Amino acid sequence: MENEEKTGGNQSHILVFFFPVQGHMNPMVQFSKRLASKGQRVTIVTTTSASKSMKTANPSCFGSNLKVELVSDGSEHVNPGSETMEQSVERVQIETMKSLAELIKNIKNSSDANEKYPLKFLVYHYSMPWALNIAREQGIDGGPFYTTPASVKTICYHYHKGVLKLPLEGPTTKLPALPPLQLQDLPSFFSDPDTDPVFIKIAMDQFSNLSEVKWIFHSTFDKLEHEVLEWMANQNLPIKTIGPTIPSMFLDKKLQNDKDYGLDLFESNVATCMNWLDSKEAGSVVYASFGSLANLSKEQIEELAWGLNNSGYHFLWVVRDSEKEKLPENFLDKITEKGLLVSWCTQLQVLAHKAVGCFVTHCGWNSALEALSLGIPMVGMPHRADHPTVAKYVMDVWKVGVRVKVNNGFATKEEITTCIRQVMDTDKGMELRKSSLVWKELARQAMDEGGSSNKNIEEFVAKLKLM
Ligand code: UDP
Repeated sequence: MENEEKTGGNQSHILVFFFPVQGHMNPMVQFSKRLASKGQRVTIVTTTSASKSMKTANPSCFGSNLKVELVSDGSEHVNPGSETMEQSVERVQIETMKSLAELIKNIKNSSDANEKYPLKFLVYHYSMPWALNIAREQGIDGGPFYTTPASVKTICYHYHKGVLKLPLEGPTTKLPALPPLQLQDLPSFFSDPDTDPVFIKIAMDQFSNLSEVKWIFHSTFDKLEHEVLEWMANQNLPIKTIGPTIPSMFLDKKLQNDKDYGLDLFESNVATCMNWLDSKEAGSVVYASFGSLANLSKEQIEELAWGLNNSGYHFLWVVRDSEKEKLPENFLDKITEKGLLVSWCTQLQVLAHKAVGCFVTHCGWNSALEALSLGIPMVGMPHRADHPTVAKYVMDVWKVGVRVKVNNGFATKEEITTCIRQVMDTDKGMELRKSSLVWKELARQAMDEGGSSNKNIEEFVAKLKLM
């Protein structure tokens, strides 16, 4: 009843089908929560194999309009390690197509769907464009959700259209709506010859039916990527910014229960991190994390370890269990109280803590958006995928960080220390901090009442009623 009043009787059911990797789940879960907060019923769909890796689920931040459903991707019939990357992508697609179609059929046939919450729409991760056909075959509409910056999608679009040609003809390339880009600024699947071709295929497949959709959701906000967003809109791509996709209590503070993402593939020890940070002075700690997937070489981890240590600042460093064996020998004994190493943390809480003065990051899109939304300047150490482009924007466009220089893909401890000191303790660092605070406010405004992203979400909810 409460929801009916809120929406004037406009209650639809939306399926949100995500890609089960932490950095791709978080933004889609957040979008789901925002839709649910506007009175819509939302079902987050993931695969049975992904659900096995989930360590924590916090339903209290979901509310009664939001639930999770599982579909099979066929992995229960496959021996781990027996498939190539290509075979695995193909199997997931074929098996998930079947079970997703089944799920849609079942929901449509349920009395709840027919009477109160008609199923209207499937939001799917952009790497699974085939989900659109499934939705339409079952009589509902669908649209992709982008968990990467609009700039990266635009670069891919230029490559798809033959405007970006590789190898580059000069040291930089000037593509429409983008700053001059060097090879090192392009997504790694264009610049790294060792990249598995399946990644370029996935990047190109996103355009296979993009001209057929009426809604393209992006976890970004208008002011942040104004130029590329306008340019893409001029190509008749119906892009809607709906970000930053960060829990409300870190932005507009309108949704009281929305304090964390709610679905985690890793376990964190919140108290250890918070108690340690509580004991440090404001702005005195360097936080370092390379997200959920990065796999750095042993040499690079060692260099990073000494780079952090030699900076002279306290540091909180997330080293995932799979990376721990690469640490320098006896590193933990040598750093004593100066550093705290954890295998995972609640990153938003850490970034929001007053003790944190800078973020050494691989420039994953969520990490960068989170730092920007919380006003924390960055030291960018891009690893792969879209990270190089994000690092380029962090440094040269948004001016909220510096980028570690690399030689043959390798960053030295001296360079890492220099970059940290630059952000923590120089006039340039002050400028970066000021600029970060401006973006923090713009990020909040975008999601708040009347803000560009909030309006786009409301427009979508209103249009659902007419579908
Ligand atoms: N994250 C976290 N705790 C950590 C490290 C990362 O909660 O210790 C979260 C972070 O807040 C972000 C996501 O994991 O939302 C990582 O996404 P990102 O796009 O930055 O990187 P990816 O993992 O996709 O490379």
